[in-house]
Amino acid sequence: MESIKRNILLNPGPSTTTDSVKYSQVVPDICPREKEFASLMKGLREDLVKIVHGDLNKYTSVLFCGSGTINIDVCINSLLPEGKKVLVVNNGAYSTRAVEICQYYGLPHINLAFPVDQRPDLTLVEETLKNNPDIGLVHTTHNETGTGILNPIREIGALAHKYGAFFTVDTTSTYAMRPINIEEDNIDFCMASAQKGLMAFTGLSFVVGNRSIIEQSKQFPKRSFYCNLYLQYEYFEKTGEMHFTPPVQTIYATIQALKEYWKEGEQAKWARHTRVFNAINEGLDELGFKQVIKPEWRTGLVSSAIYPDDPNWSFEKIHDYCYERGFTIYPGKISTTNTFRLCALGAIDAPDIKDFFVVFKEALKTYGVSVPVKYN
Ligand SMILES: *Cc1c(COP(=O)(O)O)cnc(C)c1O
Repeated sequence: MESIKRNILLNPGPSTTTDSVKYSQVVPDICPREKEFASLMKGLREDLVKIVHGDLNKYTSVLFCGSGTINIDVCINSLLPEGKKVLVVNNGAYSTRAVEICQYYGLPHINLAFPVDQRPDLTLVEETLKNNPDIGLVHTTHNETGTGILNPIREIGALAHKYGAFFTVDTTSTYAMRPINIEEDNIDFCMASAQKGLMAFTGLSFVVGNRSIIEQSKQFPKRSFYCNLYLQYEYFEKTGEMHFTPPVQTIYATIQALKEYWKEGEQAKWARHTRVFNAINEGLDELGFKQVIKPEWRTGLVSSAIYPDDPNWSFEKIHDYCYERGFTIYPGKISTTNTFRLCALGAIDAPDIKDFFVVFKEALKTYGVSVPVKYN
């Protein structure tokens, strides 16, 4: 097979994929209602539970056709019992998205907001739960992809359970990268999409979680048709299929990506992402870039660098220079500070980051940005 031009994506997903994953989408045409296709999805659904070390009797996975946001929508609209409230532990853009979902559905909720560069205060989380016994669902984000801060999900999950609430975690930017143990991490539901840690393509998203809670949710108010968790689960249980048309080619690619995941191994893959992340930080440090999140709070997957105070700095120009040479850098997602992000997702390794910094330094020099970069 001919090799395909390799771009190094340093954006927070979709990520760089292997050629074997790219080519795995080229298959004979098939109707996804054939038994052959349903059997492929059965193995895929089990693998998705195994990645977070879930016991297949207790946990299951439910697939959806859409980008990662569909999972947040599904969990929030499907898992809130009648008369209960959502608590969003929010220190970034992705938990803010969960708050917006509550607003759009008109769901009673508490937005417990913390600064984007701080970890949530667990004492406040507990007080909120104690003072609001009607909280039925606690939601947070594992790695806030907008900044790269790691949230203490195990501790938040323990508090949620202590006060009788379900715990849903947006693990879209950690799943299949930073190891997760669904049971030990006190997670009832986590979620991701094929184009992030699994290094496949967009179009397939999935929720991994507690089967008995899904079954209880049959009785909860129905707020969506296409995005109801129980409805999709029940259809899978009865037929082995998605209720509506699945993203066929992305499913083939994800199955290949899973083969490559097991071959590389959880620990080796995390070690590789860590090498990439360290190489990114070394490169940024050498150039004098300041970052938003202090080192001990970083997830180890996203670096969020602050724009230098230099009249010659232009993110767009530097981006275009790098893009033309096969490297994609990404703007930040914080309203208070101008930042750009370099992410350690994807089928890349430390030498790719060395190559990137050669080009990035050339770009700074070309546009006359002083190095080391300056801050006022
Ligand atoms: C990428 C990502 C999502 C999904 O975003 P889409 O724009 O729908 O792909 C959700 N949560 C987190 C934490 C993410 O990193």
